Amino acid sequence: MGYDTKTRCIHGDNDGVLFDHPFGAVSTPIYQSATFAHPGVGETSGHNYSRESNPTRSELEAIVSSLEGATDTVATSSGMAAIALFLELFGRGDHLICSEDLYGGSVRLFDTNGKGHGLGFSYVNTADLRAVEAAILPTTRAIFVETPSNPTMVISDLEALSDLAHTHHLLLVADNTFLSPYFCNPLRHGADVVIHSGTKFLAGHNDTLAGFLSVKDPELARRIRFLYKTTGSCLSPFDSFLVIRGIKTLAVRMERQQENALRIAQWLRLQPKVKRVLYVGLEDHPGREVHERQTTGYGSMISFEVDTAETAVRLLERVRLIAFAESLGGVESLITYPLLQTHGDVPTETRERLGITDRFLRLSIGIEDVGDLIRDLEQALQ
Ligand SMILES: *Cc1c(COP(=O)(O)O)cnc(C)c1O
Repeated sequence: MGYDTKTRCIHGDNDGVLFDHPFGAVSTPIYQSATFAHPGVGETSGHNYSRESNPTRSELEAIVSSLEGATDTVATSSGMAAIALFLELFGRGDHLICSEDLYGGSVRLFDTNGKGHGLGFSYVNTADLRAVEAAILPTTRAIFVETPSNPTMVISDLEALSDLAHTHHLLLVADNTFLSPYFCNPLRHGADVVIHSGTKFLAGHNDTLAGFLSVKDPELARRIRFLYKTTGSCLSPFDSFLVIRGIKTLAVRMERQQENALRIAQWLRLQPKVKRVLYVGLEDHPGREVHERQTTGYGSMISFEVDTAETAVRLLERVRLIAFAESLGGVESLITYPLLQTHGDVPTETRERLGITDRFLRLSIGIEDVGDLIRDLEQALQ
């Protein structure tokens, strides 16, 4: 814990040689082995079988634990695998309160498998503490938030929610994908569980899927480890290597992506065809004071609304440098149409209430030259 976050992205909490690799390898070896021989009966090399643990993956998990301030982290094959694993903690009759504009895949999982297994879900504006409190039932077990939310950038107050959650013996869970551990550590602000789609900022290169579940309480960590080895949603050694490699540059990527995003948000605001820009880094963003209390930055996700559906479609078809693709957080800038992509499975009434219309677009800003990105948007918006 003595090192700064930037250093811990590369070295975790270790002093000297990280994890003591054979031959002094500086980069983490890929232990592409399903199983590990026992030195003797009742003895272990430290790893037995790669579903349970693998040396490459264990290093990745230690780095993410270090960044999030967690007791333990499990690395899963995708973000959704992490969320599905989290859901295994609950059973028939249990109830969860969720932010109303969660990632669409989470809503799909909750409303199909979750409800199918007898769980109940209430979707509320988690920026409104009274609404959260009013949604608490005797069967409520957890509050599940994204802050900023996806894609409408609503800010929830982690410390206030954690006080409320703990008064009622609930878990506070934060999907921290949008900020990454570089800008926010929910466990340090009262959350009990942090989830990441490692596919996004952590891996950072749009080249692999991954997910993380980090926890503080040792007993909860033990339960999750058991579910993890039992259900087998583990990240492969090669993909673990890719994410370790990605995290080494997390700090420099996040800083550059944020710098680019602020310039682009400010530029978008001046465009006549752009009606509304949602970026936490803009001074008048609602909830900005709460955001600043619990983070060290604003990230690089921007949502915006254009004048007509035709403008939105034309923009998506005309961008050349920025790819029209779902996902976010990588070095390449991407633009998505939440209505048809990430939020296609969110019920129409919810989507309309949140303003996710056919004029609503979301940008994930990468590390390209900001002038090139603005010129691309400019020609596409004409
Ligand atoms: C992408 C995403 C997920 C799902 O992660 P996958 O790695 O795509 O399975 C969950 N939450 C948020 C906020 C996301 O952006």
